[in-house]
Amino acid sequence: MSAGKLSVVATPIGNLEDITLRALRTLKECDVIYAEDTRVIAKLLAQYEIAKPLQRLDAATEHRKSGEVITRLEAGEHVVLVSDAGTPAISDPGARLVAAAREAGGRIEAIPGPSALAAALSIAGLGSDEFLFLGFLPHKKGRQTALKFVAASLVPVVLYESPHRILKLLRELSSAGVAKVAIARELTKLHEEFLEGEPLVVAEALEKKGAVRGEFVVIVHC
Ligand code: SAM
Repeated sequence: MSAGKLSVVATPIGNLEDITLRALRTLKECDVIYAEDTRVIAKLLAQYEIAKPLQRLDAATEHRKSGEVITRLEAGEHVVLVSDAGTPAISDPGARLVAAAREAGGRIEAIPGPSALAAALSIAGLGSDEFLFLGFLPHKKGRQTALKFVAASLVPVVLYESPHRILKLLRELSSAGVAKVAIARELTKLHEEFLEGEPLVVAEALEKKGAVRGEFVVIVHC
């Protein structure tokens, strides 16, 4: 592989100011940006007056587009990969492309920055440094096993969940025997909040506030 480079760039999880100087410089210097949704990254680029060719690389196209990116890297191009929010390849597309680029002997660099996982943990006040990150639990096959595994964990477990499923997840966690959860909602955004308590009580509080919107990180306490 020749002088090309793949930069895996973390982007804001809500607040557009949460972007590093290095990420901005990389976005300005690269030849092309591969993005999960080009409309989402276009807003960020507009905010910082950056104009670059954009290509889509999402879960459905990652396999096909990886070959295209490798060809660019072989031609010496500087390619940036971003997801819609946070760090690519963390519950987001990217891992396949990175593995393919590494196998092809390409240069890969991380441009670290926001991730909902780290942001939620940073304000959780957990008593130890240990945790287990499982991202989204499987929707169907393996869900019950995963819930039991979470409930039996000796260390806090961090989960991602969508607004449509958060109440269901909280009820399922309660049924699985989980006594306490913490929820970080809409991190870095206007309606950011942190709730803690028994899963059913937290679910009730969310319903009462009409706050079953937004994005959620769930931390299951031991
Ligand atoms: N790659 C991203 C990262 O580094 O955090 C995660 C992408 S994953 C598709 C999206 C999930 O991350 C959401 O469903 C939610 O669980 C969590 N998330 C993303 N942004 C968030 C925010 N601002 N507040 C709370 N959770 C968030």
